[in-house]
Amino acid sequence: MKVKDQLIGLTPYQPGKPIEEVQRELGLEKIVKLASNENPFGCSEKAKEAIKESLDELALYPDGYARNIREKLANFLGVKENQLIFGNGSDELIDILCTALLSPSKNTVMAHPSFSQYSHNAIIQGAELRMVDNINGEHDLEGMLNAIDDQTAIVWVCSPNNPTGTYINEEKLINFIKRVPEHVLIVIDEAYKEYVVAEDYPDTISLLNEYPNLLVLRTFSKAYGLAALRVGYGIGHPNLIQALDPARGPFNTSRIAQAAVCAAVDDQEFIQKCVKANREGLEQFYQFCEEYGLSYFPSQANFILIDFKRSGQEVFDYLLHKGFIVRSGTALGYPTAVRITVGSYEQNAELIETLKEMLSVN
Ligand SMILES: *Cc1c(COP(=O)(O)O)cnc(C)c1O
Repeated sequence: MKVKDQLIGLTPYQPGKPIEEVQRELGLEKIVKLASNENPFGCSEKAKEAIKESLDELALYPDGYARNIREKLANFLGVKENQLIFGNGSDELIDILCTALLSPSKNTVMAHPSFSQYSHNAIIQGAELRMVDNINGEHDLEGMLNAIDDQTAIVWVCSPNNPTGTYINEEKLINFIKRVPEHVLIVIDEAYKEYVVAEDYPDTISLLNEYPNLLVLRTFSKAYGLAALRVGYGIGHPNLIQALDPARGPFNTSRIAQAAVCAAVDDQEFIQKCVKANREGLEQFYQFCEEYGLSYFPSQANFILIDFKRSGQEVFDYLLHKGFIVRSGTALGYPTAVRITVGSYEQNAELIETLKEMLSVN
């Protein structure tokens, strides 16, 4: 038996440490996880109700076409039903895109540091990676354009970018899209779109008719607080969606997830509340950073990357022993930083107090 060469030495995705594991290892009672950009307020109560109502149908396969969420979202977004593709999280859509478009003779262009799954899945398909270093935490769009050639199959744009939280404004994005050759698929990962408040954030859906080589990715795992259920979606030109669909598993979103998502879309009041609390939470962190002279990237997402000018792993370990799970910047390409998910007001305040103690000691 022999796995593909490219799988040898490739490590699986390194998620934020699970709460249970830290509890077991450190014997701590209270643990706050601000590591995976999950919603600290959970999800809509309406989504939970919808799940209860779906429990009598567990013996039945879900609708593979996901007609209920398809209709719901097409309406909500103002697109046609055949412009949507659903995935078991947008992670699965990234996998589907790589399966459908990449092979050893192709290359794929992405920003670095950015979301790790673009490179991970591209490596599995044997494609050449072309990573273009960020400038000041932002995509170097000019550099990315220069990296594109005849063999480029996908260019990945993450906005707001994980792990920096920076975004690409409308003018810059449109100028970029215009200059990407037609044979290249442009993927715009908008996993944190709901949290964005910047007025010049682009309405990418309005560009889909003009640019059939554009695919927008979104998810229910972040602001909607449904990470456990694994639902993400892509929005694109009907021809593109039709071309990708055979690479999708037949029942890749569950019945329970479909029921919850339908109800969650209807509860925009919940999202608005979370977005407001998130902005207030970011302000707590900004204020702390200003007070202590720490640099950070202004964030349009629900996390902040703070540069502590010392080993991010050390900061991570310190916080872990105090009961806070964050993400060390070491694995994210910013070794002197940590990425912190914005929590509730109290969680942020407690974490900031702990950080102040750490900085006062050394
Ligand atoms: C969290 C995240 C995803 C994955 O979300 P799922 O839908 O849970 O798979 C995709 N892209 C980015 C940038 C993310 O941060």
